[in-house]
Amino acid sequence: MDLSRKKLWVFDVDNTLILDVEHPTPFKDALTLWSSLEEKGCTLAILTNVGRLSSRQVHQAVERAGFHLPVERVYTAGAAAAAYIHNRSPGARCFVIGEGGAQEDFIARGLDVANNPPIDFVAVAADRGMTFDELNFATKMVKQGAGLVCVSGSRDYSGKYLGQDDVYIGERSIVAAIEHATGVVAVTVGKPLPEIVTETVKTIGFKLTNAVIIGDNPNSDIAGGNAAGVTTILVKRDPHNIVAFESGGLDTKPTLTVKSLEDVIDLL
Ligand SMILES: [Mg+2]
Repeated sequence: MDLSRKKLWVFDVDNTLILDVEHPTPFKDALTLWSSLEEKGCTLAILTNVGRLSSRQVHQAVERAGFHLPVERVYTAGAAAAAYIHNRSPGARCFVIGEGGAQEDFIARGLDVANNPPIDFVAVAADRGMTFDELNFATKMVKQGAGLVCVSGSRDYSGKYLGQDDVYIGERSIVAAIEHATGVVAVTVGKPLPEIVTETVKTIGFKLTNAVIIGDNPNSDIAGGNAAGVTTILVKRDPHNIVAFESGGLDTKPTLTVKSLEDVIDLL
């Protein structure tokens, strides 16, 4: 396989570049591929399903781990959800669940993040400090007609919160409670939604045929990349660290599977 014409390389973060955003130890093979791509003049970008942290916070984490790029090329599910809402209703009033990160991406997009009615959209990212009152308020607002957006779609995930390593229920599971209570079905914005990949590639200024997406997760990175029409590379990591997402019936077979990202260098 010849990847020499691929000029835009979009990386997943958790379990691809670093273990996860709360354990930001870099994978050595990822650092090696990253610098090879830089030497060849390729454009590097990040597209992560993390919604509880903002683009700026994810950028800080990867920079500290040794992956350098402009903050403008870091795309989170929170930023994508903010763009989705902004495109439909500029300046909408949004009630946002999500550890502060999603809120930051929403404010950066010019949306009005609010905790009182009227609310146009309820957006739910992973939030380990969420209270019953917040969940109940979100449910009431959706019952009264607010749109419901799930920021990314993990059922659960490992992480570290208030110093504690554990497994936590994800945004998709929180949204399921609101869906159950209201009968409203949420729009999920995050990989594998193909539009996220398409928008990322086009916003940076490339054609889909010149782009590659690399990730550890067949159901999010690979399914989304395939559906968008970009080349997909699956890196085999510890299966215990793969976050559970729904592929939505999309094709999860990668263009290329590698055990180490260093194997990609020979194909550049
Ligand atoms: Mg991942």
